[in-house]
Parts: sequence; C-alpha cells; structure tokens
Amino acid sequence: MSFESLGLDAAVLKAVADQGYTTPTPIQLAAIPTVLEGTDVIGIAQTGTGKTAAFTLPLITKLLRSKSGAQRGQVRCLVLAPTRELVVQIAENIQAYSRYAGLTVATCYGGVSERPQIAALRSGCDFLVATPGRLLDLGSQGHGNFSALEYLVLDEADRMLDMGFLPAINTIVRALPKTRQTLLFSATLSREIESLTHQFQRSPKTIEVGRRSNPAETVTQFLYECPGALKQVMLHHLLKDEAQGMSMVLVFVRTKHGADRVCRKLSQEDIPCAAIHANRSQGQRQRALQAFKNGEIRVLVATDIASRGIDVDGITHVVNFDFPDQLEDYVHRIGRTGRALATGTAITLVTREDFGELRRLERIIGKHLHCGKLKGFDYTQQAPPRAPEDFQRPEQRGGRPQHSQEGHQHPQGGRFGGQRAAQGQYRPFGRPGTRRRGGPR
Ligand code: AMP
Repeated sequence: MSFESLGLDAAVLKAVADQGYTTPTPIQLAAIPTVLEGTDVIGIAQTGTGKTAAFTLPLITKLLRSKSGAQRGQVRCLVLAPTRELVVQIAENIQAYSRYAGLTVATCYGGVSERPQIAALRSGCDFLVATPGRLLDLGSQGHGNFSALEYLVLDEADRMLDMGFLPAINTIVRALPKTRQTLLFSATLSREIESLTHQFQRSPKTIEVGRRSNPAETVTQFLYECPGALKQVMLHHLLKDEAQGMSMVLVFVRTKHGADRVCRKLSQEDIPCAAIHANRSQGQRQRALQAFKNGEIRVLVATDIASRGIDVDGITHVVNFDFPDQLEDYVHRIGRTGRALATGTAITLVTREDFGELRRLERIIGKHLHCGKLKGFDYTQQAPPRAPEDFQRPEQRGGRPQHSQEGHQHPQGGRFGGQRAAQGQYRPFGRPGTRRRGGPR
C-alpha cells in the first residue's frame, strides 16, 4: 500500500516524498485513514514505529481542508509530549511534513526563555507542541487561546503520567473545547491510560501495531565485571579497541555529576564527547544532540531522564556505565541502539554491588545474562587517583548545583502557578489582561 492511497493532501505527499518514505509503516497504515475520518484514536505504539508521521500527516491534511484558518492568537492543534527533546523533535517533523502546506508551528518547553513562546502564543499557530509543565505555567499567566482548538494529541501519554504530569494535563484539557478530535499515543495500555481515554476521548478506536521487536531479544548484550574504581579505565579501553567499531556510542550514567565526570575524563583522552542531563541548558542539550547526530562527537554521555525522546539513528553501541536505577530502563536504554535494523550492541559494566540487581533484571526480561571478565583488560591494575575536581561539588567548579530530582518544574505549580493558585488568582489560559472569576478551572 502506498501513501497516495491513504487520502492525504498533495502538499503532504510531496513532503513525504522529500523525506524519502516510500511505504507507510503499520501504524501509519492503520492511523492515517482513521484520523482523516475524524475518529478519536488510542495508538499503542513505541517510538521508532513512525507514529509521529502517523498523526501529523493526517492532521496537516485536515487543517488544510478545514475552512476555518487560524485566527490571530488562536491555536488549532495542540500536541502534548513529556520532554523538551521530544517536543523539539515532533515540531521538526511537523515542519518537515508541512513545508508545502504553509502551516505554522510553535513550541513551548521549559529550560529556555518564556518570551518567544509567549510571543508565539499571542500570534497564534496551527500546531503548538508543548510539555505540560511549561504550557500550564504560561497558561497560569493568562497566555494561550485555545477557544478554536480542533485537535489534541497526547504523545507518549504513559511517560507523561510517569513523570507526574497528570494534574497538569487535566487542567490543560479542561480548558480546551469539548468538541475536538483527540489522539492518544502510549507504549502500553495501563489502567491509568484507560482512565485518561475515558475522560478525554469519545468512542476512540484502538490501534495496536505489532510491537517493535523486543531489544532484549535483538540487541547483542555483553556484561563485563568491573570494579567500581576501574569503570572509567574500562570505558577508555573499550573505546580504544578499533575492532569493536564503536563509532557512535551512547553512555548511560546514573547521576548528572557522574555524567559530567565521565565526559571530562573522555575529553582529557581526546575522545570527542558531550554530556546531556537536566542541569544542562536546553541550548546545550540541543547542541550536544546535534553534534552527536552529525558525527562531530563520538560519545554522548546521558542520564536516563535526559535521554528520553532521543531518536538518533545509527547508534552502534550503548554502554551502561552505571546499572540503571529503575531496572525497566535497561530495555529502554539498550533499545537506543539498532533502531533501524533492530540489531546493535549493548555493553554493561557490572560491579560486585550490582550482582543482586542483575539477577532481578534477568527475571524481568526473562533471559539469562552472562556476566564475565573483559578479555585483554588488566584487572590487576591500580585504579587511577581521583583528580581534585572529582571531589568538588559542581558549584565549587563554577558549575550549577545538582538537584536531587531531574526533569521539569512541578507540573501543577509551574513557576508561579502554585503561588497564584494559593492566592486564588490561578487562571490557566485566560486571554492576557482578562481576569476570570472563580480562580482555578
Ligand atoms: P517515530 O516513531 O515517529 O519516532 O519515527 C521513527 C523514525 O522513522 C523517524 O526517524 C522517521 O523519520 C522515520 N519514519 C517515519 N515514517 C517512515 C516511513 N514511512 N518510512 C521510513 N521511515 C519513516
């Protein structure tokens, strides 16, 4: 089946051809006609299945065909997504797919200045892609006019709930028109997700595409015993071994401080690398990701939350420098490699303290994971002395302080929301300058 037979607008088909897509993926085949006919959709699909195009292509077509254009200040389609990276990625996709359609796309996410986002909300746009935290924050300041909204997309709804965004999502959706088409995408269909769909959707159709093959089955996994003090040495040893072909490597480290330290040591060995974690500014995160995609850096060091939404093709190796805190993240981490061909290599450094967790992990993924010594690695060597900066807190090195929690601002509070709510002034999505009575909606 071709894209041409799905009922998409000619401008969309031209953009799809530019992308080099020839055949729709299973979720696109199922979702595009359903969205076009106006039905609410529950899409059970993971990233990497082509789900962004599955909702974007028909929505662009519908916006082009609908008589009402975006009036000044109004938003026609709202896409909510859990992380800044995912928001940027979705917006880039929409821009690419709508390049011949002349539609406008704006984004709202934390960690960057509010000003351009406020200006974009004042101007209005066809698509607004936002994280719930920042959108609620701006809404509490009276920005955002959703009175003409026709379409709502909740992308990666399961992750948004995991990240505690439910109260923010509830507040946002309550402020939207009731007559709208709502599309919800999630990797799993839990009871919480079902409850969301009951609240927000009307007679939705569930589309579940064949799951992407389980990375735990398809990614080649190596687990090496490693004393904690030799982890960095082992990482260098692995990266220096040409035979391994480690040309594009994503390294997972448990803490932000640890990620910076690993990155610093790699740089000292002239290995081009960058770190992404929640204490890095949005600009720094985007630049690091772009440099990694372009091949300017060989290694990207990431914490788990910062890595969410990273959709980078061609990652040859994932290295678990630290065992994941949440064992479920193991599969998520190793699935970052081998996205296109579903093959890739994951290497995990396992300390004595991790052995108990390793046994638990084996039970979770239902597979024995052999953990042995790394051939050719000198286990008898002395651990290198720690540099003075390794003992300093980041603020002592002129960096920003670490926080115990990563991620977004508190979803309900936003920057001022909690305080305003407490004062009875909380007004999500009122027009700037207009005052609503009765406090929160
Ligand atoms: P997503 O699941 O939306 O994160 O998409 C995963 C990747 O698949 C992205 O890099 C898309 O550019 C790509 N993609 C989406 N649709 C197609 C298609 N029909 N053919 C080939 N690649 C696609």
